Amino acid sequence: MAMTAVYITVDTEYSSSLANRPCPVDRSENFARSIAGITPEGPLGLPHKLALLKEYGQRGVFFVDPMPALVWGTAPIEDVVAPILEAGQDVQLHCHTEWLAHAGPDTPFAGLEGRNIKDFPFEEQCRILDWARETLMAAGAPKPSAFRAGNYGANRDTLRTLNELDIGFDTSFTPAISNGHCDIPLGRETTQPVLMEGVIEVPTGCIRDATGNLRHAQITALSLREMTSAIVHARETALPSFTLVSHSFELVNRRRMSANRIVRNRFEGLCRTLKNLRGVRTATYRDDPPLRLYDRDAMPPPPISGPFATGMRYAEQAVSNTFYGA
Ligand SMILES: [Zn+2]
Repeated sequence: MAMTAVYITVDTEYSSSLANRPCPVDRSENFARSIAGITPEGPLGLPHKLALLKEYGQRGVFFVDPMPALVWGTAPIEDVVAPILEAGQDVQLHCHTEWLAHAGPDTPFAGLEGRNIKDFPFEEQCRILDWARETLMAAGAPKPSAFRAGNYGANRDTLRTLNELDIGFDTSFTPAISNGHCDIPLGRETTQPVLMEGVIEVPTGCIRDATGNLRHAQITALSLREMTSAIVHARETALPSFTLVSHSFELVNRRRMSANRIVRNRFEGLCRTLKNLRGVRTATYRDDPPLRLYDRDAMPPPPISGPFATGMRYAEQAVSNTFYGA
C-alpha cells in the first residue's frame, strides 16, 4: 500500500499587530505571546509543539517569518530558528509583508507598504522575498525550498518569484477558503500538488465534511475525530499527501494568555494518532517533499471526514463496542 505523507505545517511568527503603534509590546513580550505561548501552565507554543513531535516521533514543517528583522535585527529570528533545528525539524520560509510598514528609513524597503506579498509587482516581490530568504539564512536556517505567504496572500507573480529564487515549492493555495487572500488561479478541485510557473504548488489541506462542504484543514478548526477520519480516508484512498495547517500561537488564547485546553489536547491527540496509524508518515520538505500530480485530470477528491469516511471495518468496530461495551 502506498504511504500517505502528512505535512504538519506550523506558521511560526511574531505578531505584527502586537508590534503596532501607538502602544507596541516589545520584542521579548511578543516572543512570549506569539512564539513561545507562555501561560501560567508553562509554554504552549513552539517549545510545546516541538516537545510533542519529539515525544511521538513525528516530523513537522515550520514556516518562519523573518520580516521582524526589519525592526529588531536578526537575533530574534535566530531565537525562533535555533530550537526548531535543534529538534531536528524543518525550517521553511514564511513572509508577512505587514512588517514593511514598521521598517525604518535605513532599511532597503523604506516607504514600501502592502498587506500581502501579492500587492507588489513582480520585481518588488523578488526584492522582498530575496531579502527574506537571505535574512532567514543569516538567522541560521538552511537554504529554504518551500514558501507560504502570510495570510496565504500569494498570486501567480509570487510563484514566478519563487522560481526565480530557486524555491521549488509553494503552499499558499487554500482550496477550502473561497473568499480569502490567495489569488493563485487554481480551481477548488486542485487539492494535490501541481506544477505552476516552474514551482510545485502544494494546496493546503482540506476535507469534505458530512454535509459535503470543503473545510480548511486547520488544527483549530477541526476536531480530533474529524482529523483522524480524514487521515484514515486519505490513507485508504492512497492520497499521496495531506497538509495540515497550524500556527505557533494557536494553542494559547493570546489576549488572556491562558491555555486553550481543547486545542492543546487536539495537537497531542493528533501526534499520538499519527504515531499509531500504519500506512501514514509525517514528512518534511527538506527530506521528503510532496510529489506532484502529473495528470491533472486524475485529481483525486479530498479526504472525507464523517460517518461514511472510514468504511465497514470501523462500523463493525463501533457495533462491537456498542454490544460488548469495549
Ligand atoms: Zn502567518
